[in-house]
Formats: sequence, C-alpha cells, structure tokens
Amino acid sequence: MDKDKNSPNIGLVSLGCPKALVDSEVLINKLQQLGYGISPTYANADAVVVNTCGFLDSAKAESLNAIGEALNENGKVIVTGCLGSTPEFILESHPNVMTITGPQKFNEVLDTITEQVPIKSNPFEAKPSPSYVKLTPKHYSYLKISEGCNHKCSFCIIPSLRGSLKSRSMTSIISEARSLVEMGTKELLVISQDTSAYGLDLKYEEVLINGKKLKTNIYNLVSELSSLGAWVRLHYIYPYPHVKKLVPLMNEHTVLPYLDVPFQHAHPDVLKRMARPSSNVHDLEQVSEWRSVNPDLSIRSTFIVGFPGETESEFSFLLDWLEEAKIDRVGCFKYEDVSGARSNLMENQIQDDIKEDRFNRFMRKAQEISKLKLKEKVGKTYSCVIDIVASDRLVCRTIFDAPEIDGLVSVPYNQDIHCVGDRVQVKIISSSEYDLTGELT
Ligand code: SF4
Repeated sequence: MDKDKNSPNIGLVSLGCPKALVDSEVLINKLQQLGYGISPTYANADAVVVNTCGFLDSAKAESLNAIGEALNENGKVIVTGCLGSTPEFILESHPNVMTITGPQKFNEVLDTITEQVPIKSNPFEAKPSPSYVKLTPKHYSYLKISEGCNHKCSFCIIPSLRGSLKSRSMTSIISEARSLVEMGTKELLVISQDTSAYGLDLKYEEVLINGKKLKTNIYNLVSELSSLGAWVRLHYIYPYPHVKKLVPLMNEHTVLPYLDVPFQHAHPDVLKRMARPSSNVHDLEQVSEWRSVNPDLSIRSTFIVGFPGETESEFSFLLDWLEEAKIDRVGCFKYEDVSGARSNLMENQIQDDIKEDRFNRFMRKAQEISKLKLKEKVGKTYSCVIDIVASDRLVCRTIFDAPEIDGLVSVPYNQDIHCVGDRVQVKIISSSEYDLTGELT
C-alpha cells in the first residue's frame, strides 16, 4: 500500500550476514504493504526495529550497542533476528525494549508495530505498492533459497537459532528471481546456510516448472535460474560430491565460474572436531576435479585458525593445503567462543598470542596466493560489472568476484556513457595483492 502522509514511520537497523539482510528486506516490504513509511533517521521514526546478529560474541556486543543507541535516540525499540533467540541476555542490558522476537518472526514484529504504533488512516483507501524495497544496489540481489541447517558444527549455534533445513519451493524462488530481474537485478547471489543441501528436506519432490517435471535440487534450481538472463553466483556451497555437476553449468558464464565454499579447515582431525559436514571430502582431488572442468573457476572460502586443540602440525597442514589448492579469495577468523557452542567446552583452547600468530601467517600465505593468481589475469580481458561510477574512474568487479567481499577492478574513465550495473569488457593491465586495474576494450 502507498503510505498515507499521516501513517507512522518505522526505522530499521540491520546487522549481520546477507541472510539477515534478506530478512530485513522482507520486513520492510511487509511494513510498506501495510502502509507504514520507512525512516532513515531515528528522529523521524515512530519506532525502530533492530535486526540483530548473534553469531559471535563480538556480533552480540555490536547488536547490544545498536539496541542501546536506538533506545537513546528514539526510545521505542523492537528487537528481532538471531540475538532475539536469547531474550534474557538482551533484557539484562536493555530492560526497556518494547518486544523481542527471534529470527524470521515477521508476524510477531508486525503485531507489535500495529499494536503500539497503529495506522490511523483507512487501510482500504491505500493502493498497492508499486515497488519492492531492496537494501542492496539495484543491479544485484541476494536470493535466499532455504533457511536453517541440518548440521551440528561444534562451533556454531545457527541450527539452534534458526532450526533445521527448510527449503523454499523452486516455484517460489524462481518467481522471486524473475521479479527481481524484471526490476533491474543483473546478478542473483544465491545464499542459504547450506546451499548444496537444497531440496533434501523436501525429499527432492518433483515439481512442474516451465512445462518440465523437475526434481527439487540445487542442480535444477541453478539451471532454471540461469535461464533468466542475470548472472547467478553461488554462495555457501559445501563440497558434497554432487557439486561437481554444477561446475559444467558455469561454462556458459551465466552461472558464474565462482564457488563460495566454507572449508573452515583442511586437516581431517580438526574437521572432525569441528563436526563439519562432508569432512571426509575436503581433498585436493575434488578442487582439481572442479578446475579440470572449468579452469577459470574462482574459489572463495573462509577458514578458522586456533580452533581448540589445533596443533602446530595441523596448522602447517592447512597452510600447505592452501598453497596446493590455490584458493582464490579467502577470509580468516581467529577462533572465538560462542555462547552455547559445544566447542567452548573442548580441551586445549589455544592461547590468544598463538591464534594471532597463526592468523598472520595464514593471511601472508593467502596474500601470496592471491597476488600470484591476480598476476595471471594481467593481459586478459574479462566481463565485468560496474559497481561505482566515480568522476575519474569506474569501480568494477570481474565475474570472479562477489560484491562486498572480493576484489575490485579500477578502470580510468572520464566519459558519460556507462552507468552502475552495466556490464563491460575490461582488459587487465596490472594487479596488486587483492585488486586489479584495467582498461575498457
Ligand atoms: S553447516 Fe555448520 S557452520 Fe554452517 S550453519 Fe550449519 S552448523 Fe552452522
């Protein structure tokens, strides 16, 4: 519904991962459909929703700070999201919040808002909203295909916060993706907690899509998404054996030659202590097999160093593995206790100075690999998307880089032809540790 000028405005503070960002988008759109306005400032808001993150203790502290700031600046605060699963923890610091709900409890948030800051105008007079609000730039969108996770990694509390795997139907995902593409999205970033497990909870049921009977699984979903004309980028892919079927889909460059695989470690004993899914298949053969099908494949991953009990030799194994696997883009975290995680109780917690040393050694190795891999791109021409048009240059991304987390290509530019979201061909002329420079061809 369009907003009546007398309708209340709601502020929203969104913290955490892209999955939480998608929840915030859903909430904003539901509020708009009800006729509420969205306020970018505390001062103009009649109430503020804080969508929290509760993954790491540092994220919890950030969420508590955000709640405190919203209380100081506005006073009417509704807390939702992952940290909302532990209301007593929030109430200890902030007893004056209006209400606390857990992740994806949209109806409870809406109930509180409609009760505490009701719309006074006649809702039947309002008109359907002409636009869907996105929290990402127009040219790319996150597409959440499932919620929750069936695994029980020892360092993670997401399954207890978000429940077991619940896949969305293929029909609903494809219809959302189609609408996003019609509204200008040129890149769909497929996300979930465990993308490769998509459809498992639905027993891979057969559905009718575009006149074809298809099993609900990640391969069919990605194939169908690739026909919409937007780039499709895959995140949070666990290295199950069936992932190799996805790689040939990347040869056409609609499904991008990119896999975000959260390996977390490489040593089998550490993976076992972490209770990682598919801990027996983190082998180099699998990475080589993917690359033999698509030599251009770019692999992003995250790793944890200093996990309880990690010995120097297990850590060295990880460094050697990284060198062999030549992972293109990496993120690294020093192990941190998360309240409620089983790993907190494990013996042989690693001292902070050792964690710091391993983190630095890991990042040095990752930087060397990144530098070499980017150097190999010099002289080649790649399809890129423009993320920013500045006065003297374009800031672009190659097909091998995801927004926000990977590298950029800087292209000198002083014309007035291109816009954000345009795809351009860029010849790479130089490289550094993480970024590239190039020229338009
Ligand atoms: S796979 Fe492991 S780390 Fe990822 S959400 Fe599930 S339990 Fe957490």
